[in-house]
Amino acid sequence: MPTEHPIDLRSDTVTRPTPAMREAMARAEVGDDQFGEDPSINRLQDRVAALLGHEAALWFPSGTMADQVAIRTLTRPGDEVLAAREAHILWHEAGGTSATSGVQINEIGPGGGRFSVDDLLGALKPVAAMYPPATLVSVENTHNRAGGVVIGVEEGAALAGAARAHGMASFLDGARLWNAAIALGVAPADLARPFEVVAVSFSKGLGAPGGSVLAGSTEFIAAAVRYRRMAGGAMRQVGFFAAAAEYALDHHLERLAKDHANARLLADRLAASPAIELDPSAVQTNIVIFRMADGAPDAPTVVAAARAAGVLIVAFSARTIRAVTHLDVTRDEVADAAERIVAAAESAARG
Ligand SMILES: *Cc1c(COP(=O)(O)O)cnc(C)c1O
Repeated sequence: MPTEHPIDLRSDTVTRPTPAMREAMARAEVGDDQFGEDPSINRLQDRVAALLGHEAALWFPSGTMADQVAIRTLTRPGDEVLAAREAHILWHEAGGTSATSGVQINEIGPGGGRFSVDDLLGALKPVAAMYPPATLVSVENTHNRAGGVVIGVEEGAALAGAARAHGMASFLDGARLWNAAIALGVAPADLARPFEVVAVSFSKGLGAPGGSVLAGSTEFIAAAVRYRRMAGGAMRQVGFFAAAAEYALDHHLERLAKDHANARLLADRLAASPAIELDPSAVQTNIVIFRMADGAPDAPTVVAAARAAGVLIVAFSARTIRAVTHLDVTRDEVADAAERIVAAAESAARG
């Protein structure tokens, strides 16, 4: 089977820099970023701050570190953070939120990546010495584990506004905010401006080899610099990453629409199989999460069968599987992968 060059739909993080991106990286002017002297990093930070409608921005090696530093800067140990169910900060950051910030996360809302202002207000505990104060509201856009779910402009602004009205900070975990903006046809700033602090990533759909940014007020960024250093994330000649990020913003942003169309193509084909449960209309961006139907094999079995057939996907739980479209897979490859996943699910079902 064609396992030597599998169609890799495990994540949009598997993309490799294109030849043109590598050239831009090789040409990057660099300096010591801890002295504030990396011109490429400085230019990227200014550009992204403006793109997100914020005063200032700070580069990080990873999205997880950006999230952790944002939470560390906006909370105190013992505080409570309100977030949608299955948030990345709770599920995918190795327990870092409680280990490094000493906060507890309260998962609120019905699931599906969102919660309402009523859910938020309903989660607030009385103000008394026995209760942890909720000091931060975190919104993930797009929401990864819910399947790339998009939070709209007004919906996000209402949540950030409710947080502010109740003396809480607001954080937008926007690792895939670019996908949300493209899906909605709005500017990233429309989604980012209402929030006190915003994280975005260049190594997901944009296809850069690494790098994330936090944007916020000048005062917030000055405080975050210290916690980035504490986390070991203050680096030196990282302008090479900034050059990749700038290249990605110039050349890989608008094309995210193709990934979204390819995800819908994949979802439509998978939904036609009796072994798979999936509502294709729920697929809004580049993430497809589907459930193995009752009587069909479990997720690890189908993932292994797909791998043997040359398609890489990941088991997200015992019966759910995630597939992600990206820059390095063509529409034809996605269509081919859909057929092979269906065959894997149905042949595994026959045992
Ligand atoms: C991927 C992701 C992150 C973390 O990014 P890394 O660069 O992998 O550390 C944070 N939040 C969300 C919603 C993500 O999808």
